Amino acid sequence: MAIIIFMNVPGHGHVNPTLPVVQELVRRGRRVIYYNSEEFRPQIERVGAEFRPYPSALPSQAEIAAAVSRNMARISLLLVEAAAQLTPFMLNELQYEQPGIVIYDSICVWGMQAARVLGLPSVSSITTFVTEGAEWTLPRRDLAHMLLGAAPLMPRFFRARRRLLRTYGKKSLPAVLFPATGNLNIVFTSRQLQPPTSFINDSFRFVGPAINAATRDGSFPFAQLDRRPVTYISLGTLHSADTAFFRHCFQAFADHSGQFILSAGKNTDINTLLPIPPNFLVYPSVPQLEVLQHADLFITHGGMNSVHEGLYFGVPQVVVPHQMEQLLNALQVRASGAGVVLGDRYPYGRVTADELRGAADHVLSDPRFKQAAQRASESLRQAGGYQRAAAEIVAFAECHAAPAL
Ligand code: UDP
Repeated sequence: MAIIIFMNVPGHGHVNPTLPVVQELVRRGRRVIYYNSEEFRPQIERVGAEFRPYPSALPSQAEIAAAVSRNMARISLLLVEAAAQLTPFMLNELQYEQPGIVIYDSICVWGMQAARVLGLPSVSSITTFVTEGAEWTLPRRDLAHMLLGAAPLMPRFFRARRRLLRTYGKKSLPAVLFPATGNLNIVFTSRQLQPPTSFINDSFRFVGPAINAATRDGSFPFAQLDRRPVTYISLGTLHSADTAFFRHCFQAFADHSGQFILSAGKNTDINTLLPIPPNFLVYPSVPQLEVLQHADLFITHGGMNSVHEGLYFGVPQVVVPHQMEQLLNALQVRASGAGVVLGDRYPYGRVTADELRGAADHVLSDPRFKQAAQRASESLRQAGGYQRAAAEIVAFAECHAAPAL
């Protein structure tokens, strides 16, 4: 049976949707070798793939988080520069392993380049909206900020790109590097939620979020929840401990009649948040897929996975984006009618306790938000999820798997 090689980056948002897909591929008898950094080894091995570490040239989770929080151009630069070492590394690995197909996350420039150099059939795992060519209505001030932040980085970006093209040939990279596309492109949203763009062609499959709680870590004391409405609050996994935001939540909801679950993030020292109001349950991390099934409202930073997981379980949202990509996700939630957006002006994420309280009460008291979330849930479930993603990949491999190199 031909091997599948999977390349990813160290970010939960990029890895989580792939875990149920890989588990399903393994269940269907495929051998999957999965490259990432050591910290992701346990999750990857648990779903039945063979884990392989990248060399140290791979940006760390902290470096990715720092780059993303500053400017989207900074993460592009980090990744293109990393490809200088990761492309030759992967070329060696691929020549040794002789896979039938390769799968790479849509920010793994090295995966796309190595596959193109060797002429291997490729699948891209796209865990964001496809932003290339999409028309977003962003305020001028935000656009100006984005361009001003990107401009000084552009010479370095183009230098790094030119070096990759000189080394591996003009056809080794397409004009558009992000998303790094493949012959087949799996996007973890629905066609309805994806903003229109002419970049999308018939190689794209919109499978919705890949949800399987059994592929995730963690436990939660659900017995501590009573009959009060539950609000779940999280800023995701990449933020650098926005304790001011958490304190605003305490201030906003300490006298609220509901219960609040706050995932503070593994980088947050929970002692710095004391005193915690009695109606809050605060943990560094929670099993989000299970918690969402108990939630009436989700106050989220607008990470792609979080908004999709929330919608999948029909939970209306207050989205407080902390950077540009999250703002774009937030706008899609608002457009679906399933939530409201706060703190959406650069520098993003700035909200007062009063604004949080007002938005939460508004979304909880107007049933139209819940109804819209349930409609989005249906469209996401119909998209097929991880089973469809795996079926598409298997069908693609059966048609296109490369003979040994
Ligand atoms: N997550 C989780 N428990 C937590 C916080 C986050 O399981 O306490 C998961 C969440 O389900 C999602 C991922 O971590 O799959 C976060 O990805 P997202 O794209 O929402 O945000 P990021 O962390 O990349 O900013």
